Amino acid sequence: MAVAFIGLGANLGDRRRSIGAGVAALESTPGITVLRVSTLRETEPVGVVDQPRFLNGVVSIETRLPPRELLARLLEIEAALGRSRDTETRYGPRVIDLDILLYDDVVLDEPGLTIPHPRLHERPFALEPLAELDPDAVVPGHGRVRDILAE
Ligand code: ADP
Ligand code: MG
Repeated sequence: MAVAFIGLGANLGDRRRSIGAGVAALESTPGITVLRVSTLRETEPVGVVDQPRFLNGVVSIETRLPPRELLARLLEIEAALGRSRDTETRYGPRVIDLDILLYDDVVLDEPGLTIPHPRLHERPFALEPLAELDPDAVVPGHGRVRDILAE
């Protein structure tokens, strides 16, 4: 079993409901057990700044799905909750976004999947809820979450 941290974000529609539905979908997935859910926080958009504010949170999970299968499941949940990659632009508004932030101490850089999430260490909106769940979690290559935040 691996422990992974999943980042959730939403800035279209009923954001709280979409994130709740995302967590419920993770919980109902064979091979995934949700351990803890962080508080949700409102955050300013990054990148494309002319868009609604995000609601962001992080969940910790225990899973027997390998990283690729976990990603496939996250993309499936995004699609089921109404995210459309045809009409949405990168860093633009989205109904739901599910990212693998950390997966044990795995370091992986493949087409379509990078772990740890390549922008995790520079995103307070992901680091803060992650620190709430486990401040001693290590972002491979960048150190402990609490230390990254303190910098
Ligand atoms: P972002 O989450 O960076 O705003 P998207 O949600 O649009 O961007 O994701 C685009 C692609 O990023 C996904 O189709 C997926 O293949 C890829 N990706 C790479 N690494 C990860 C990861 N750690 N977690 C989730 N998606 C990832
Ligand atoms: Mg994503």
